[in-house]
Amino acid sequence: MAEDQKRKTMKPNLTFARHIETLYVRLDTRQCKACWACVKACPQQVLGKVDLPFHKHAHVDRAEKCKGCQRCVKACPNGAITKKATIHEPATQRDRYDRHAAG
Ligand code: SF4
Ligand code: SF4
Repeated sequence: MAEDQKRKTMKPNLTFARHIETLYVRLDTRQCKACWACVKACPQQVLGKVDLPFHKHAHVDRAEKCKGCQRCVKACPNGAITKKATIHEPATQRDRYDRHAAG
């Protein structure tokens, strides 16, 4: 299939903005030094490369495949990938407690 046709048939990813985050991790492309350690570390092939002559950084390619294993966070030597709070984490538990306490 020609590249143009492929692009037209791809569904837009409306869940995660600008290919910088999944449900579990967030990528700061300004901190990225394009070493590709995160791309190699991800067992789900979530992360990809923007590898142009003067514009290189990792990006989130398939956010929906992320399992939240955090291997990319540990692999990045520049702190460009950070863990996000998720619906299962303390913030939500605290919210639930607050709602319960409020009656
Ligand atoms: S958290 Fe795990 S699955 Fe998700 S992008 Fe990072 S390495 Fe891949
Ligand atoms: S490991 Fe960090 S610096 Fe290296 S490509 Fe991934 S985000 Fe960029």
